[in-house]
Amino acid sequence: MISVLGSTGSIGVSTLDVIAQHPEQFGVFGLAANSSVDAMLEQCHTHKPVFAVMMCEVAAQELQTRMPKALGTIVLHGEQALLRIVTDPAVDSVMAAIVGSAGLPSTLAAAKAGKTLLLANKESLVMAGHLLMDAVRESGARLLPIDSEHNAIFQCLPVNDEAVASKTGVSKVLLTASGGPFRNWSLEQMRGATPAQACAHPNWSMGRKISVDSASLMNKGLEFIEACWIFDLPPNMIDVVVHPQSLIHSMVQYVDGSVLAQLGNPDMRTAIAFGLGWPERISSGVAPLDLIAASRLDFEAPDETRFPCLRLARESVAVGGTAMALCNAANEVAVEAFLDEKIRFTQIPRVIERVLEQITVIEPKSLAVVEAADAEARLIAREVVANSLQTAEGA
Ligand code: NAD
Ligand code: MG
Repeated sequence: MISVLGSTGSIGVSTLDVIAQHPEQFGVFGLAANSSVDAMLEQCHTHKPVFAVMMCEVAAQELQTRMPKALGTIVLHGEQALLRIVTDPAVDSVMAAIVGSAGLPSTLAAAKAGKTLLLANKESLVMAGHLLMDAVRESGARLLPIDSEHNAIFQCLPVNDEAVASKTGVSKVLLTASGGPFRNWSLEQMRGATPAQACAHPNWSMGRKISVDSASLMNKGLEFIEACWIFDLPPNMIDVVVHPQSLIHSMVQYVDGSVLAQLGNPDMRTAIAFGLGWPERISSGVAPLDLIAASRLDFEAPDETRFPCLRLARESVAVGGTAMALCNAANEVAVEAFLDEKIRFTQIPRVIERVLEQITVIEPKSLAVVEAADAEARLIAREVVANSLQTAEGA
């Protein structure tokens, strides 16, 4: 049985699409979302989960009222309910696809409970990578990366006797980036970018937060950190390569000169089906890749002057400790402010930079320390946003 956290989002919907193609293989134990009652109700009709969890209490009440008794789905709300559908002994796998830091407690709980963790929520690794990876090791949980790049790397790494990815003979990991919708924009053009333009990704259809992250290249920065944790790689073993077609999802280079790449159409159902079916392959509904129609694969270096977020993420890895959690929290506040049209697109990195300058980094020894760092960073980031509003500071 599987629980899908963030079931009404882009990854959640794609996950349920793949599950629906294999009704004999998967049963849905729990679905969880923030507040989208209509979407959740429809998913309950189709998938008949044992539990449907809404974070928002009012939304849960509405869902309860509208839920047909005959479905037998129990409606719950709040964080405890979320943990329940993650840790229940009947649950084998958890798809962690809540957006942002809100996904950390449930992701960590799945790791501690020894579940097969299908990890889309990259922010939890960025915030608390060592806590999450320790939990995976200690409980014997299986972490299968769903982020397409990490899924590609996982597929290109050698498999040892236990069918677990290892790094034997690996010299580098090449993390590909589409470059986002502003790949060829000047800083001046980006200064005037609207939320709609930032969310119009050329290749992928995704939630709004990750779409803005892709436009600023912070998504690649977060993925850089994610790769360090998942594959236990030092930062100097990871290179970012811009590949505008998004057909190669990442590559692994070996000491003998071989480079292995994983290719496919840009559709998250491939990575999701890989995670759901592992170690077997199952169909995903994704169209076969037509290389002749695609005709070319281009590559270029990332430009950290126009896209400072990538540099900031890299710097926070180098600093270590809570720096990555601070970077992530500041980014979440800045992206929200940009989507609310309170700051310019080019002010996103400035908010993050100010937060990193102002807060002292410490060792992230426990979840409480990480959550405190996250809260402090949000406070400062909101102040920076408010000040930039007052002074109408241009970036
Ligand atoms: P989305 O915005 O489309 O969906 C987010 C989901 O999380 C929704 O179901 C929403 O109801 C739920 N949610 C939001 N806040 C919540 C809370 N406090 N408690 C419980 N549920 C909450 O986002 P998405 O694009 O599906 O991305 C989800 C995660 O997957 C992100 O961490 C993102 O970085 C990662 N990811 C997404 C893609 C993609 O293609 N969309 C690719 C790789 C990784
Ligand atoms: Mg990705």
